[in-house]
This record gives sequence, structure tokens and C-alpha cells, in this order.
Amino acid sequence: MAERERRHVRVAVIGSGFGGLGAAVRLRREGITDFVILERAGAVGGTWRDNTYPGCACDVPSHLYSFSFAPNPEWPRNFSGQPHIRAYLERIADTFGLREHLRFHAEVLGMRWDAQALHWEVETADGQLTADVVVSATGPLSDPKIPAIPGLDTFPGTVAHSARWDHDTDLRGKRVAMIGTGASAIQIVPALQPDVARLTLFQRTPPWVLPRADRRITAAEQWLHSTFPATRAARRGLLWGIREMQVSAFTKRPDQLGLVEFLARKHLKKAVKDPGLRAALTPGYRIGCKRILLSNTYYPALARPNVDVVTAGLKEVRGSTLVAADGTEAEADAIVFGTGFHVTDMPIARRVTGAHGTTLAEEWKDGMAALRGATAAGFPNFLTIIGPNTGLGNSSMILMIEAQLNYLADYLRQLDVLGGKIALDARPSAVQQWNHTIQERMTRTVWSRGGCDSWYLDANGRNTTVWPGTTSGFKKATLQVDLAEYEVLRPPAGPPADRTAPPRTEVAA
Ligand code: NAP
Repeated sequence: MAERERRHVRVAVIGSGFGGLGAAVRLRREGITDFVILERAGAVGGTWRDNTYPGCACDVPSHLYSFSFAPNPEWPRNFSGQPHIRAYLERIADTFGLREHLRFHAEVLGMRWDAQALHWEVETADGQLTADVVVSATGPLSDPKIPAIPGLDTFPGTVAHSARWDHDTDLRGKRVAMIGTGASAIQIVPALQPDVARLTLFQRTPPWVLPRADRRITAAEQWLHSTFPATRAARRGLLWGIREMQVSAFTKRPDQLGLVEFLARKHLKKAVKDPGLRAALTPGYRIGCKRILLSNTYYPALARPNVDVVTAGLKEVRGSTLVAADGTEAEADAIVFGTGFHVTDMPIARRVTGAHGTTLAEEWKDGMAALRGATAAGFPNFLTIIGPNTGLGNSSMILMIEAQLNYLADYLRQLDVLGGKIALDARPSAVQQWNHTIQERMTRTVWSRGGCDSWYLDANGRNTTVWPGTTSGFKKATLQVDLAEYEVLRPPAGPPADRTAPPRTEVAA
């Protein structure tokens, strides 16, 4: 092994999106500088680097969709676009001195827990290293999902996914088929519609769409926010508070969402005059069951004469003919998949081999579960940022990420307090208890009772992605590590025996 490849670090962070960069800043604030950020691409930004499709923007207000420790008084719009969010993350990397820690083109190919040495052996595309602690911040929206459509390989034209946009392909004047009606698709449709010859939307399920209260943030507001930071904090606080108050309707009283449905129907009626099209675009499930989408341009685009809405999913491709599940056929020169990501089958999980010689994917074969959204039994000193059941339906994921960073910081402090070469391994009973409570609360939520299928649910129909509570509730639950929920592992005495079976010591909490 070359000298550089031998390197040992205290912490290896995987990914440099909001989660990875946030973790890195937190490590530095805790006084930890012995860490690397392993990034598979050549730049920071995660999903905000990869998603460059036309119209890409965030539908959480920017003053809330940013780190509390790095406010940006200069956000240009309520809902800033991808270029501004990406630029914000680049600035985070510069401002907080993260460049020296970044290792680009260092995709993690595999990692294995060494039970003797009590560290992770990590193999990356850029060599090997060992780390006491690994923080996986690969994000749920990182690996695009393209459904296995029979005959797709016979399609002679361009095939693209929303998260891997090919800017060299000119779609102007082409017949484009858009597959899917999620948050990505409803931004792409109005961006493409004016320029393409024909746009055929394959809609398997219509989404609920509300008006998007977007506007430019004025120079006066920007001045106010940078001169008087309290105004910025108040704006953020208001955005946060409104969303916290909405949570109980999603998690406990989905019936209350009827009023929101009324507003969404009104929004649809205003834009789409054709009753047939309106009926086709009206969802048959409770609003909020799938992510509520925000757009003022989606419905008007669908009402344009060069757009066809096929009310069935794409089932088959025969050359340039696309066949829907209801038999409808459409000719296309290009297919754009807005079909989402590998969320409930987190790809990194297949590459992480824990203390018992099994992968995290095997551990999670019946569904993802992690103690306080962070740690899994048998995977010592491995923490996930935006882990299982930490997603949100209505607020900013940055709040959840920051809560997880509190947990990470306390985890590292606990390792210091316990002293020496040491690791913490979540007790199976603690993981089960945490997950049981979450799944019990889940039964009352709109995601379970709303009558829809969504990417929140895994193959077994279990919601392993969303947090069924407020962000303040999650913050409280993740402020500190409860040592009673962990076994403390110390290096074995005497000659090494079984490399996959770590010795365990009980600790009184
Ligand atoms: P998504 O929400 O998972 O949507 C995937 C879409 O593909 C669904 O409409 C699904 O239909 C459809 N689909 C799958 N297979 C199909 C087939 N064979 N034929 C037709 N349709 C098919 O993915 P996404 O839109 O990329 O969004 C993912 C998440 O990213 C969002 O929920 C959000 O959290 C985030 N995001 C946010 C923004 C924003 O802030 N504005 C923008 C983009 C993404 P079914 O509904 O029937 O399953």
C-alpha cells in the first residue's frame, strides 16, 4: 500500500452535499480537524450539484433551507433556484475551510469494520484509508432510479433522467416524453413545453399541486437582513413556526387537510378549463400522502395544445413508440425520466460490512431502521446523516440535518469521555424500540392512511423515510447520546481470534 493510501483519520465523512458539508463544519467547530470528506464527484453540492434540469429550484423557502450557522442575507428569491443553492454550498466549503479535507473522485467502493483494530477499513476509488468513525451523508436523493421498462434499449432517441441532465442535447422542436409527475417532473414540464414540438406526459398518479408563493427578495429586504440580523432570524423563525404548526395535520389528523385540498382544486380549476383534463389531473387520495407540490406553471403548461397527458404509466417501449399501461401509444424523439431516486434501498448500504460480516443492506432487508435516525446495531461508529425516518413532508431538511449533527457531536464527545480506543455499537433492543415507536406513530399519519403509494414507503409498504413528528421533537430526541442505548466496545486483550466478532462490554449509563 502506498503511504498516502495508508492514511488513518479520526472521522471519514462520505458525501459533500448539505449533510456532508454540515458534518464537516460541525467537526471543525468541535475542534476535530483529523477528518476527510470522501466525494465521488469532482465538486461539492450533492443533489444540488447533480440536479441541473431546466427549472430546478427548491420549494422550501431559502431562508429556512439554509444552515442556521451560515445565514445568507442575499438569497435572491423566496424559493431560490439550483444555481444559487449550489453556489451557497460552494461558499460553505470555502468559508469554513473545508477544501483541505475534501477528496474528490474518491467514491467509497466498500468498507468493513475491523473488530480487532476497532476502526473502519475504507476502500475508495482514490485508495484506502482507515477511520475510527464514519459519517455517511450520501443522501436519499443521490442515485437516480430508472424503472426497468421492457424495450427501453430499442429506443433510438435520447434517454435522460432528471438528475443527470445532458445539456448538450437540444430538445427544441423534438417530441419529448416526460415520465412521472413528482417534484422534478412538474418543474421540467413547464420549462420544456414552450420549446418542444410535442410533450407527452406519462402520468401514473396525479399529484396535488398548490400555488407557489415565489417572488424576488427585494434589495431593501436584503439590506435589512444583512444590517439587522434579527430580522433575518425572525423571518426564518416565522417560516419554521408555520411549518411546525402544520405537522399534526400530517401526523395525527389527516382529516384536517380537506381545506388544503379545496385550495388545490381551486388552483387546478383556475388553470385548466377542459373538464376532461381537469378530471384526469385530480388526485384520488388525501393531500399530503405524497409530497405536496408547488407550481404556478405546471397546470397552465399541461393545458397548452402541444401537450398530451396520458393517464397511465409507461409500460413498454417499441423503438420510438412508447406504450402506456392502458395501451395508449405515443411517438417520441426523447424520453425524460422524472422517476425519482433509490431512497428506501440506500445504495451505500450494500457497500458497508459490519461487525458480523453482513452488509447494512442485508441488515435492512426487511426495511431500514436506525436508532435516532443515525446508528444501526452491528455497525459500530457508523452514523448516517438523513438516515431512516428522518425525512420531512413539509419543512426544511436542513433542520433535521442540524439535529443529526448535534447527535454526531455528542457521539464523538462520548467517545472522548470514555477514553482510549473505543467504539459504540447500538443495542439491537434500542434500535427496535426506537423503530417500534416510530412505526406505531406512523399508523395515524397521512402517509399511511392517505390512500396512496409513495417513495416514502419501501417494498413492504412500510414508511422508513419520514419522521412522524415535528422538527423540534426530533431535535430534542437527538440532542444527546444515551449511552444506555449502546454497547461499548474496547480492543480485545490477547492475540486476535475472530476478526468479525468484537468483544462487548456493558456500560452503566
Ligand atoms: P418522485 O417524487 O419519486 O417521483 C417519481 C415519479 O415517477 C412519480 O410520479 C411516479 O409515479 C413516476 N413513475 C415511476 N415509474 C413510472 C412509470 N413507469 N410511468 C410513469 N410514471 C412513473 O421523484 P422526483 O420528482 O425526482 O422527486 C423526488 C424528491 O426529490 C421529491 O419528493 C422532493 O423531496 C425532492 N425534490 C424536490 C424538489 C423541490 O424542492 N422543488 C424538486 C425535485 C425533487 P407514481 O406517483 O405513480 O409512483
